[in-house]
Amino acid sequence: KYTLGVKINDWDSKRAEWLRLNPAFPNFLTPSKPRVLIVTGSPPTPCETSIGDHYLLKSIKNKIDYSRIHGQDIFYNTALLDAEMNSFWAKLPVLRALFLSHPEVEFLWWMDSDALFTDMTFELPWDRYTQYNLIISGSREGVFNDKNWLGLNTGIFLLRNCQWSLDLLDAWAPMGPKGPVRDEAGKHIAEFLSNRPIFEADDQSALVYLLGMQRDKWEEKIYFESAYNLHTDWSIAAEKYEEMIQNYHPGLGDWRWPLVTHFVGCKPCGKFADDTAQQCMKQMDRAFNFGDNQILKMYGFTHNSLESDEVERIR
Ligand code: UDP
Ligand code: MN
Repeated sequence: KYTLGVKINDWDSKRAEWLRLNPAFPNFLTPSKPRVLIVTGSPPTPCETSIGDHYLLKSIKNKIDYSRIHGQDIFYNTALLDAEMNSFWAKLPVLRALFLSHPEVEFLWWMDSDALFTDMTFELPWDRYTQYNLIISGSREGVFNDKNWLGLNTGIFLLRNCQWSLDLLDAWAPMGPKGPVRDEAGKHIAEFLSNRPIFEADDQSALVYLLGMQRDKWEEKIYFESAYNLHTDWSIAAEKYEEMIQNYHPGLGDWRWPLVTHFVGCKPCGKFADDTAQQCMKQMDRAFNFGDNQILKMYGFTHNSLESDEVERIR
């Protein structure tokens, strides 16, 4: 069976010992603010189109801006740490490596490259998560009752640096190795889940499947966040930005001003030819500018419109 590496069993005590010996690197910056490392990445090779790489640049700028404002560090990965764990599975080995190398980090916050911060000022309600190790957008019913592969979204989630998380990665990863293992797992998962087409196992379906199979083991430590939008599908949010600007303000993080807009299915780094792809690239520009306006405002500028790269002075 595939593993991410040697089995680790005593991470909580090892990490606690490290934290005790390194008081200059506390895992909490204040009693209620954990040290967070935002993690994202893209394939080691160039995108299939050069515009794709330009979108990746915008995407990382967007995340750097959010990170700076919130006093969080950011890690960008372009290495395939494990050749078998390519594509949507690449995040698993990265998260494990970062947990072990950064005991000072309390939470890793995974953000897909196709997810953009659209509320730059929204700070996560950390107090709510004291008891939890995985914070993910979704619902308990969607995952456990409906067994819906869209019951949660693995494009954006926070995972606490602890033994529980290493165990979760260990339990999740064996469905990932590309080729026959991933293909077989995909069939198996499709049988178990409702409405999931048959294709190779993806990390999201695999997580819903794992949680469904071992509910007792994991449920207690998972916070299904739905009070604000840790994930919003672009097709729902992106056409409404002007309305939001008219009626609301940043800092709400929910449907009125979503924290994150996720370009699910958009694949800006791949080839795009059809109309929906063109549409989603346009919306990606709008989402970027919507977030960027919150940054530019601090310096007295704004985009001429959400569709425009050009900016004008506002003071
Ligand atoms: N990813 C990565 N390295 C890769 C492939 C993907 O870091 O070689 C990351 C990238 O951030 C991407 C995420 O994994 O957004 C999920 O992969 P997927 O193929 O689902 O891409 P998406 O549809 O989210 O763009
Ligand atoms: Mn994505």
